[in-house]
Amino acid sequence: MLEYIIVGQGVAGSCFALKLLKEGKTFLLLDANQNKASSVAVGIYNPVVLKRFSLIWNAEEQLRLMHKYFSEFEDLLGEKFIEKIPTYRILKNEDEIKTWNKKSAMPQLMPFLSDEIQNTENQKINSPFGYAEVRQTGRVELGKCISKFAEYLIKKKIYRNESFDYSELNIQEDKVIYKDIQAQKIVFCEGFNVLNNPYFNYLPVIGVKGEVLEIETESEIPKAIWKAHNFLMPESGKTCLTASTYDREDLTYEPTEKGRVEMKQHLEEIYTGNYKITGQKAGIRPTIVDRRPILGNHPNYQNLYILNGMGTRGTLLGPQMTEFLYNFIEKEKPIDREADIRRFDKFLK
Ligand SMILES: Cc1cc2nc3c(=O)[nH]c(=O)nc-3n(C[C@H](O)[C@H](O)[C@H](O)COP(=O)(O)OP(=O)(O)OC[C@H]3O[C@@H](n4cnc5c(N)ncnc54)[C@H](O)[C@@H]3O)c2cc1C
Repeated sequence: MLEYIIVGQGVAGSCFALKLLKEGKTFLLLDANQNKASSVAVGIYNPVVLKRFSLIWNAEEQLRLMHKYFSEFEDLLGEKFIEKIPTYRILKNEDEIKTWNKKSAMPQLMPFLSDEIQNTENQKINSPFGYAEVRQTGRVELGKCISKFAEYLIKKKIYRNESFDYSELNIQEDKVIYKDIQAQKIVFCEGFNVLNNPYFNYLPVIGVKGEVLEIETESEIPKAIWKAHNFLMPESGKTCLTASTYDREDLTYEPTEKGRVEMKQHLEEIYTGNYKITGQKAGIRPTIVDRRPILGNHPNYQNLYILNGMGTRGTLLGPQMTEFLYNFIEKEKPIDREADIRRFDKFLK
């Protein structure tokens, strides 16, 4: 008898599995390795919402746990995944400069927003009004981290590459039985595919498709996350990533011409040099109607749990939501109301 089954190994399932390893709990992870948003994600973390110049929910604690979890992945897997990279917000006009000056003087934003407006010598960066630095930002190579972690779990024989067949799940009062496996609890971390889970498909999950372009620029640009409407981030040498799109209508997993055109247009707001496109990927963000994650157990089956709704911010949310869910299950600590699945019990018919 295992303590847990985990279904899904994106950033959510991986963080939860890491927590179980650290706590010495027994588990088996099942993953179909399909349509994984976490492998498409660039993995940028940024505690500031740059459209409104406000801090994200739980910003400091999310940052702390993000560094803790991904450092633990680094130690366990012997590879580097976290790269601290400043974000340079390109300022569009005099009004934005005024807003920046006001916001960067606010005590809660001071640790994150530099009060200095800078200019670059690089002629290819389109910033006639200058740019300003957002601190404590960077990138986690989520795709690499997750695939290395899968290799680790396979070696430990606690990972199966298979699609979970919901019709084979037998739920009993004190355990679940799935094929040849018995466990005390099951945690579903299926990302957008939760809509195919008959136990949790009542939840108001709206997929938001996103695309990312890989380009090669004519010359190297300075290492930073250059941010206007979209961002441009050099990855290595002249290879850069630029993203993203937000499409709630087309929920297919394929990259599109429309997405490419849109990203090229937004790229012009940042970069004026020549480039060629070398890759394009698409994925679907698991977003909840109220833009908050979703955690907890099923209203009718107490040993069925969910960890989902990471939306646009899986890198920062994965670790903290794992802590919330683990503490709820093992220590009976209530889940933060904003992320608690109980807010949607009324949706279950
Ligand atoms: C273009 C794009 C760019 C993004 N950039 C960023 C970024 O820079 N920073 C950031 O923080 N976030 C970013 N995101 C958002 C981020 O990708 C998501 O928040 C996060 O990946 C969601 O993780 P997840 O584990 O919930 O889902 P997923 O990563 O989708 O993982 C779900 C897993 O469950 C498995 N699964 C599902 N159903 C089953 C089943 N029945 N049986 C077995 N396995 C199953 C799938 O195979 C998959 O591996 C981006 C997203 C996109 C699309």
